Amino acid sequence: MQNNDQMDILQQLFSKAQYYQKCSICNKEFGEGESVCLGFDVNGALICTGKCCKQNVKQPIYSSNYIKRVYTIPDDEDVLWRYLTFPKFVSMLKTQSLFFSRVDKFNDPFEGAKGLIENEGKWDSSYKNIFKFAIGLSSQLTESQMEAHCNAMLDGFKMMCKVERLHTFINCWHKNDCESEAMWKLYCSDLTQGLAIKTTYKKLSKELNHISDIKIGEVQYIDYTNRLLGPQDAFWFKRKTFEHEKEVRVLIHNVQDFEEEKEGIDIPVSLDRLIDSVYVSPVAPQWFVDVVDDITKRYGLDKRVRQSDLGAKPFY
Ligand SMILES: [Zn+2]
Repeated sequence: MQNNDQMDILQQLFSKAQYYQKCSICNKEFGEGESVCLGFDVNGALICTGKCCKQNVKQPIYSSNYIKRVYTIPDDEDVLWRYLTFPKFVSMLKTQSLFFSRVDKFNDPFEGAKGLIENEGKWDSSYKNIFKFAIGLSSQLTESQMEAHCNAMLDGFKMMCKVERLHTFINCWHKNDCESEAMWKLYCSDLTQGLAIKTTYKKLSKELNHISDIKIGEVQYIDYTNRLLGPQDAFWFKRKTFEHEKEVRVLIHNVQDFEEEKEGIDIPVSLDRLIDSVYVSPVAPQWFVDVVDDITKRYGLDKRVRQSDLGAKPFY
């Protein structure tokens, strides 16, 4: 087997179009839980099939039960909040778009992580075993040549995983029926000038679903101690310490025009259709509420701007 073939296997293992979604022979989408097999056909080409074309696999490499997605899609009427600073709010109005941050620009170093560093060896060897099996089927390499080939493939694979973080963009929302005091504090650096926009999952997905390869789902909060994640799954998990964020994220892969310094990308939407209402921080002074209302209207957005319900006064 030539080096080019090995790179090809890596590419295909990595590519969700080939490996994660549909049969490479007949293009039929895999069903949930369906047994999916990666292997070589009679001509030595790498294929990935479901039940539909299983007979075409002459030398199987790897098989598993297909999981359509690792994340849960919210219900249509689930309420979503996006907490913003005032400058970010103005930028959103000005660009009429939602900002998607590039994964490597997030503060959380676990964004896109495959596991804990002490478990990296386990992750490596599980992928190395797949490569070993794939190479072994069609070559007469010696043990040491095989080891060298597999190490090179693993390096290539891990490089792709790292690059994937630079080509993945995320827009975050907080799922909650009501406002969250914690989120006000977390996401508004100056609480007296914080804002939140409110929408529903249905509206958000309607605004974005014309973009190919877009995914919207709930983040799962896990203990990484004993978890290893695959290249595509990693973006749907965070550490348990972030559980209060109840995050729903919009994720876009493979955006072409890459620039090293770029923090993220703006995706145009109709803010008029997307936003239900605009909330201003519970501790904001009245003049700030008026400014937000004025700016919102100036940008042609006729939405109710209201002060947070958390500022409501009790009696005793
Ligand atoms: Zn098929």
